[in-house]
Amino acid sequence: MRLSQFFLPILKENPREAEIVSHRLMLRAGMIRQQGQGSFSWLPLGKLVLDKVCRIIREEQNRAGALEILMPTIQSADLWRESGRYDDYGKEMLRIKDRQDRDMLYGPTNEEVVTEIVRAYVKSYKDLPLNLYHIQWKFRDEVRPRFGVMRSREFLMKDAYSFDLDFEGAKAAYNRMFVSYLRTFTRMGLQAIPMRADTGPIGGDLSHEFIILADTGESQVYCDREYLSLKVPGENTDFANDSEIADIVKTWTTPYAATDEMHDEAAWDKLGEADRVSARGIEVGHIFHFGDKYSKPMGAKVTGPDGKDHFVSGGSYGIGPSRLVAAIIEASHDDNGIIWPEAVAPFDIGLINMKVGDADCDRVCGELYAAFTGAGKDVLYDDTDQRPGGKFATADLIGLPWQVIVGPRGVAAGEIEIKNRRTGERETLPVAEAKKRFGAIA
Ligand code: ATP
Ligand code: MG
Repeated sequence: MRLSQFFLPILKENPREAEIVSHRLMLRAGMIRQQGQGSFSWLPLGKLVLDKVCRIIREEQNRAGALEILMPTIQSADLWRESGRYDDYGKEMLRIKDRQDRDMLYGPTNEEVVTEIVRAYVKSYKDLPLNLYHIQWKFRDEVRPRFGVMRSREFLMKDAYSFDLDFEGAKAAYNRMFVSYLRTFTRMGLQAIPMRADTGPIGGDLSHEFIILADTGESQVYCDREYLSLKVPGENTDFANDSEIADIVKTWTTPYAATDEMHDEAAWDKLGEADRVSARGIEVGHIFHFGDKYSKPMGAKVTGPDGKDHFVSGGSYGIGPSRLVAAIIEASHDDNGIIWPEAVAPFDIGLINMKVGDADCDRVCGELYAAFTGAGKDVLYDDTDQRPGGKFATADLIGLPWQVIVGPRGVAAGEIEIKNRRTGERETLPVAEAKKRFGAIA
């Protein structure tokens, strides 16, 4: 992509309304545009990152056996009356009427809709286990939308729903999502810690919030330092092996970790001073077992191996991709701007032409652009007539992992410079070497 043909509305000044660094940087880097209270458009740079985040989520959901669907945003109130939640949900739900004066709502979540699908089609235990997910916009009329896309009213959510014959099956489904979440967040360069969360009237211990430690987090959290060095399960994890998956969950739930609501002072006191991490945290995911909470009132049952009817046992599993984009920035930035982890970077390389119009600079940039894109790299080529200082500032602000800098003096000697955005390390290389460095054949 040529920057001259891209849409990157950079802000020079710090926007006054932005209280936290991720909100500030997303606005300054032209990733999002606020359109109303808690409502944002995703501009091209932001959309590229959001898509990469969603792709990782998808790959890991699929790997764990979940199937992607897409459910509507506007839902019928009658369905929510069946579960009893229409009256319970309160003011966070946006209620709408259609032209026939029917009560509708903009979905804050999808348990009712997905249970309706299962009720319609799934009749036998042989069709289970089943886990259906989608990545869809939600609307919640939050009391205090703030911090940009971190807590907005309209936001993207990946929500998965598992269905099993009994508690044992539901627990195995829960464990698969638990392990899938560990892999998902790690791939985005984040260290997410699963923390015990409230299970309310459902009871039991199958509810965890996945928390990123960050000073600007909204929750107070407590955990054992051991979490910071636990090894995340690899790509070859066997999701079909229930006991292998259960062992991983055990390892990741044994050390102490709890949010404020679940904090247990007595257990905390038993930890040595040096092992205690008391910090602020951002919730990026939440998994929850709810048993027959929806299947019973809505009549979603299957015939079991015993020939009898059973209400299916369910769980729901949320991740906030839009919040995640902000959380990644909170975890990875410096004074000059964003530092994208490679897996979610909007482009892999920023190619900077220091003197557009100089025949040699233009030629070498053209060659490198072709070589890098040919090697499968996403390149943002700064071919604008801005001054070098401005180009460097933009490159640092938008945080691409690598900068490849082509200037008249270097080019005369057949050399260019590369800079690693994270470490700041610079290296001068012959043009052919630079091509090789990023996977292109010289
Ligand atoms: P919170 O306690 O932060 O309000 P929640 O418990 O309401 O979150 P869930 O209903 O479990 O969240 O939703 C699943 C995920 O969706 C959350 O873990 C979070 O990543 C994301 N999410 C929830 N509310 C918002 C919001 N207002 N803006 C952006 N993302 C959100
Ligand atoms: Mg909430």
